[in-house]
Amino acid sequence: MSAVSEKAAPTTGEATETIDGFHLLIDALKLNDIDTIFALPGIPITDFTRMAQAEGIRMVTFRHEQHAGNAAAAAGFLTKKPGICMTVSAPGFLNGLTALANATTNCFPMILISGSSEREIVDLQQGDYEEMDQLAIAKPLCKAAFRVLHAEDIGVGIARAIRSALSGRPGGVYLDLPAKLFAQTMDAAAGKKSLIRVVDPAPAQIPAPDAVKRAVDLLKGAKKPLILLGKGAAYAQADAQIRALVEQSGIPYLPMSMAKGLLPDTHPQCASAARSFVLPEADVVVLIGARLNWLLSHGKGKTWGGSGAKAAGGQQFIQIDISPTEADSNVPTAAPLVGDVGSCVSALLAGMGSGWAKPPAEWTAAIAERKDKNLTKMAEMLGKNPAPMNFHSALNVIRDAIKARPDAILVNEGANTLDFTRSIVDMYQPRKRLDVGTWGIMGIGMGFAVAAAVVTGKPVIAIEGDSAFGFSGMEVETICRYNLPVCVIVFNNNGVYKGTDVNPRGGDMAPTQFVKGARYEMMMQAFGGVGVKATTPAELAKALDEAVASGKPTLINAIIDETAGTESGRITSLNPSAAKKK
Ligand code: ADP
Repeated sequence: MSAVSEKAAPTTGEATETIDGFHLLIDALKLNDIDTIFALPGIPITDFTRMAQAEGIRMVTFRHEQHAGNAAAAAGFLTKKPGICMTVSAPGFLNGLTALANATTNCFPMILISGSSEREIVDLQQGDYEEMDQLAIAKPLCKAAFRVLHAEDIGVGIARAIRSALSGRPGGVYLDLPAKLFAQTMDAAAGKKSLIRVVDPAPAQIPAPDAVKRAVDLLKGAKKPLILLGKGAAYAQADAQIRALVEQSGIPYLPMSMAKGLLPDTHPQCASAARSFVLPEADVVVLIGARLNWLLSHGKGKTWGGSGAKAAGGQQFIQIDISPTEADSNVPTAAPLVGDVGSCVSALLAGMGSGWAKPPAEWTAAIAERKDKNLTKMAEMLGKNPAPMNFHSALNVIRDAIKARPDAILVNEGANTLDFTRSIVDMYQPRKRLDVGTWGIMGIGMGFAVAAAVVTGKPVIAIEGDSAFGFSGMEVETICRYNLPVCVIVFNNNGVYKGTDVNPRGGDMAPTQFVKGARYEMMMQAFGGVGVKATTPAELAKALDEAVASGKPTLINAIIDETAGTESGRITSLNPSAAKKK
């Protein structure tokens, strides 16, 4: 072990090998195949970041902890291993905490490790450097939180953090490491023995046979069945089983945004282009790793049939989820199937047997008709070439780029930029779309893009509203520093939602406006990357092709009509004033 040092044993005068907290932590992480840490150095973790790098862990350091945290969360989603974020105490910890809470909400496994002040001083509130009771603050915002006080417990601390992040419903874990811990030393052999390699941290959870039978019986009687795939299904990496279920059953399916590409969006059974038709019309809905939260109108209301009558009993749900408490969270669940997606889908397939009758032709034909109509309408919109560009003409370019490079990862945030991209840009492969997730937040863009590039090595295309980009824009330096194959495309319409608001009193600009004609591309140039301003689809296509081909960090400032876009995008109903204006 390179991490040990020698010191004279006081009684015998013989040299004994010792190891310190820094190296125990490094060894504990390496023992569990953690090869990358997303971090921001500072007291008390600066030396740790240097030592970890020297010991072969890839250290990816950021300009703000929130983005390091978001990167860890995205890495967790993409790899099914907990993404690790490391921060300094108090403010650094708090900056990382937003990402930890968001990861927990999204069911992504991540571990936030923060250095902290000394317990004796914190507990007596005697005013230490960056004093804060971080463990107490983190606890309600994540799945589990632990503190390690003694070097000999580092192995257990890391093992508990990994198991908590990955087992059952994945989520965020906080690990509190007081500064003193890093310098503690212990006997090297005993230290080595104290480390734990976690065995089977996310064990298969097999659904009970009677639960499978209940689900199969319900599905058998369905006249208008629908499969709904969520990001839990994407996370589970049970791609072959999901495809088999969809294709062998012949049931139409609808992917939630981060489940797009589990099967190609161009698949004949994909009902995305008939979403508002299939949701209220379906009689039995199979939810696979998707929650009936606000993104699905809680399974009731307008999206699900208008009167609410269906939600009151007419529409029935089979829910595959690893969390036993997810069922009945909004509407009754007729057949809960508790277990991991792979095991549940396989059990369902086995229960359905080989002679499964395809859904009635009236149902699939009605969906096909709606799809054709909507896809024709979409093609007309995409075929237009207005000047300046609008969302459709710009996204038509990105749609073609992803078609040509289906292995590229698309990161997406914004309001209109998010909504339009989700519906216009088809995805072809699993886990290639990373977006604002369950909270629908802004600020994930550059953190997710860095993680996607680092853990997959694939080209990353980040489609960013100009407002959304502002939250993490400084991380273009990180992208350049690590020379990552990331192409950021800022949809620049001069403001939040659009750039045409006015201040009725004159003076300051309106609260939703940004500097007109901002040169975002120069931000990438400032750090040695490529910056391009694109005012036409042809310019955008050329710059994007070059970026993907070269793998050079690139920012394309795509100039969009400042009158394009609606307030709050497609969630106007959640914005009280915009809803009133309607
Ligand atoms: P979406 O926003 O795409 O609809 P959600 O985040 O609402 O997806 O739902 C994801 C669901 O998937 C969560 O309820 C979570 O418990 C579940 N889940 C996550 N991983 C697994 C897994 N391996 N097996 C089964 N369910 C899972």
